[in-house]
Amino acid sequence: MIRKFEFTPILGWSVSRWETFSACRRQYYYQYYTKFEASRDRENFLTVKALKDLTSIPLEIGNVTHKIIEILLKRMQKTTKPIDMRRFDDFVFEKTKQIVESKNFSEVYYEELETIDPEVQILPKVSEALKNLLGGGRIEWLADKAVESKDQWIIDPEGYGECRIGGQKAYCKVDFMFPVGGELHILDWKTGKKDDKKHGRQLRGYVTWAYFHFDVPAEKIVPTVAYLMPEYKERSIKVNEFDVEAFAEQIREETEEMYDYCEDILQNTPLAKSEFPMTENLKLCSFCNFRELCGRR
Ligand code: SF4
Repeated sequence: MIRKFEFTPILGWSVSRWETFSACRRQYYYQYYTKFEASRDRENFLTVKALKDLTSIPLEIGNVTHKIIEILLKRMQKTTKPIDMRRFDDFVFEKTKQIVESKNFSEVYYEELETIDPEVQILPKVSEALKNLLGGGRIEWLADKAVESKDQWIIDPEGYGECRIGGQKAYCKVDFMFPVGGELHILDWKTGKKDDKKHGRQLRGYVTWAYFHFDVPAEKIVPTVAYLMPEYKERSIKVNEFDVEAFAEQIREETEEMYDYCEDILQNTPLAKSEFPMTENLKLCSFCNFRELCGRR
């Protein structure tokens, strides 16, 4: 049973929050404190909000793929009959169009592309990722080993994955968790490149999340990152109770560092925008949604 929390405004650590904070303080301010611009700089606020909502081709490839995997897993809970691949392809095509049609893409906003055609820019990679998954052996393994516990599967749980790590508020949202033979397995789907450092931290976060919510020894939790492209490949790590404690300490330090940028920690009110400097790493700016505001387009 996933534990629930009363809302509190204090900031919660997450891998992506910490990564944004580490990469560029100004991006962190725009991304996580957008609403404060409404009272501080009303005109800028509307632009920040619009830029924050931009998506990108790689993000949507990941988003659509995750949504369809979620549907596939929910189908598996009802039936393990083979998939009719012709109908599946039609479904993926329609779903891709439906998901991306209302989105605003940074590639269009920043005039790198005139328009986005989902059939050209999104669908081929989504189809490749799904075919790799379906042919990668994990789906058969699930049908064979995990389907008997299908009522206990947690597939893309609601909310943001709030938990407590060493008493600190944190967010670690799993894609898919299921029990097999006394172990809790966690699978995290990736359509992007391998990144051992970042994904290793995410996996430790998932173990800590499951450890917190389900009171299972860390050694019995098997976190796996599943790379869907260019071919299906998995990487699992082993985590013990000491790792969970060390991870909690790290989260505490990182959270404290982020607190230093709060005027009011409990209310999570940020310092003035001028206290959040722009990065010197211009490479980062070329992929950042907010580059127009920083004069770095
Ligand atoms: S454009 Fe560059 S400096 Fe501005 S928020 Fe983005 S990463 Fe930071």
